[in-house]
Amino acid sequence: MRNPLLEPFDLAPFSKLKTAHFKPAFEAALDKARVEIDAITSNPEPPTFENTIAALDYAGYELERIASIFFNLNSAETNSEIQNLAQEISPMLAAFANDITLNEPLFKRVQRVYETTDNTGLSEEQHMLLTKKYRNFQRNGALLSDSAKEELRAIDKSLSKLKLTFGEHVLAETQKFKLHLTDPADLSGLPESAREGARSLAEAEGIEGWLFTLDYPSYLPFMKYSTRRELRKKMAIAFGSRAFHKDTLDNREVLKEIASLRFQRARLLGYANHAEFVLEERMAKTPQAVQVFLQDLLEKALPAARREIEELKNYALNTDGVTTFEKWDSSFYSEKLKKETFDLEESELKPYFELISVLEGMFRIAGDLFGLHFEKDPSIETYHEEVAGFRVRDAADNFTAIFYADFHPRPGKRAGAWMTSYKPQFQREGKNERPHISIVCNFTRPTQNTPSLLTFNEVTTLFHEFGHALHGMLADSTYPSLSGTSVYWDFVELPSQMMENWCYEPEALALFAKHYQTGEVIPEKLVERIRASANFLEGIATVRQLSFGMLDMAWHSGDPSAVSDVKAFETEAFGETRLLPEHPEICMSTSFSHIFQGGYSAGYYSYKWAEVLDADAFSYFREKGIFDREVADKFKEFILSKGGTEDPMDLYIKFRGRKPDPQALLERAGLADTKS
Ligand SMILES: [Zn+2]
Repeated sequence: MRNPLLEPFDLAPFSKLKTAHFKPAFEAALDKARVEIDAITSNPEPPTFENTIAALDYAGYELERIASIFFNLNSAETNSEIQNLAQEISPMLAAFANDITLNEPLFKRVQRVYETTDNTGLSEEQHMLLTKKYRNFQRNGALLSDSAKEELRAIDKSLSKLKLTFGEHVLAETQKFKLHLTDPADLSGLPESAREGARSLAEAEGIEGWLFTLDYPSYLPFMKYSTRRELRKKMAIAFGSRAFHKDTLDNREVLKEIASLRFQRARLLGYANHAEFVLEERMAKTPQAVQVFLQDLLEKALPAARREIEELKNYALNTDGVTTFEKWDSSFYSEKLKKETFDLEESELKPYFELISVLEGMFRIAGDLFGLHFEKDPSIETYHEEVAGFRVRDAADNFTAIFYADFHPRPGKRAGAWMTSYKPQFQREGKNERPHISIVCNFTRPTQNTPSLLTFNEVTTLFHEFGHALHGMLADSTYPSLSGTSVYWDFVELPSQMMENWCYEPEALALFAKHYQTGEVIPEKLVERIRASANFLEGIATVRQLSFGMLDMAWHSGDPSAVSDVKAFETEAFGETRLLPEHPEICMSTSFSHIFQGGYSAGYYSYKWAEVLDADAFSYFREKGIFDREVADKFKEFILSKGGTEDPMDLYIKFRGRKPDPQALLERAGLADTKS
């Protein structure tokens, strides 16, 4: 059988591809990658940057390309055959990655280069590559004694089990609670979609009436719209007390052990604590920097948040006679007040955002800013007829990238929106290999009579993913692992969130926000309302995000073994961020999956960090003009093209002329002029 993945290809050969091709291709590519690694370790020449560090970065290229095609399909156009294969392939790839970090002779060579290289002989990018390669070994224990290495493996093993247990408890607790309603009067306030959802949940269980659960699609609308305060309270307490019931699903001991093992792991590797270990590879660099960042923003946001809470309290008192404003009132009265203040209906906006026009406008903006030109090319093979392929050229007409766009939901596509790549950008032997970038979304489909009309949220999502795509398409590095979006993760959202800013600017909207029937440009008054409603109660939202960041840092920047009472520890960590009455039966930590199960430990702050960056970066455009070529050139030169080749703070300073300043975010969010 001829296998298109085992023949040379540049564009992903979708038309010839069958699922059966993947496994033999993976096996062959893994063999080839192992041979490439062996060639490095068995090289009789003394280790050098070229024969060891660069060679290691270029090794496994075919494997990476096959893996990107396979896993992209598993996200965007999957089936049970692909899913089963993924179960088989993932451990093979994990084992290969492990074999590299545990490869002693390989590490010895990397270490030799690291310790003997005269840095002046290396470019900045090469120096970065060397540091990252060396650190990857060191952070996985390569410098430890054999017994300490064993200890590290044991900790890693316990940690991965405990994280699974944490997640299983949260899931079981989320599924355990159900609010069963049989009286239609109890549905008061709920929109039709929420009622329908609850009805089908009840049907699925073969019972009468309506069922509400703690899953977000059921829980959030209930808290937002239900006028039944007692029921909202019941839901909020059930949600907030997950894995906090002193039973077999309680997560208190689990999370304490996770935090303690992380602390021990960091100490073993020579770091003061887990946060210090994590932040070494982040733009923020140190726990102190994160704490100062969070505290500084908190001081600026608190006056606004307290004022907004007062406003909500008064509103609740005046409309419904609510005397003690509680956690379960916040979402409900926020929504009600927002509707009363702005009266902004999605149906009023959608006609101005026809997908084709928005896409053309976005390309036009990329042209005005970065000189890019997008041309649809039907000869580019795709994995589904709905996916479009574009050839992207720069201002000097050089081929820059392939851009795939996949817009609508289908069975076999996961939810959400994301950017991904089929081929990285890199340079080798004098050739600049250009990247193949893709964005995948789940936007409103066209119907028989109406083209695809986007919600405003879908418009900003499109610009967001396109920002990531620009970071990929404009990449101009030498080494593949430093190219494009391969940057520290508190830096990766800068280009994406940055692009969202154009969606709020009349000058940009005039290019694409035109009524699909009349061609009328979106009225400025409507744009004003969009902007104002985006900032509505932003003080409360900011303080809430900061409180999560502070709780995360509290768990990870000290020795948690002395913590006896999880709830008391949490209350202390929240400190000044508390805006509403505390309840003894509610605990956040026991279901804080982001940090105890997912990858956000000592990283929750990065949501706000990225916002500070994008607001500050965009304020530069605001000063000079949102289509100013000089600022755009700098953004391209120092941010979009550089990937992870230099320290992100250095890059940012080169672009902006100084460090990021939170003032722009405070101004954008309407929090700047508040006096306490
Ligand atoms: Zn993003």
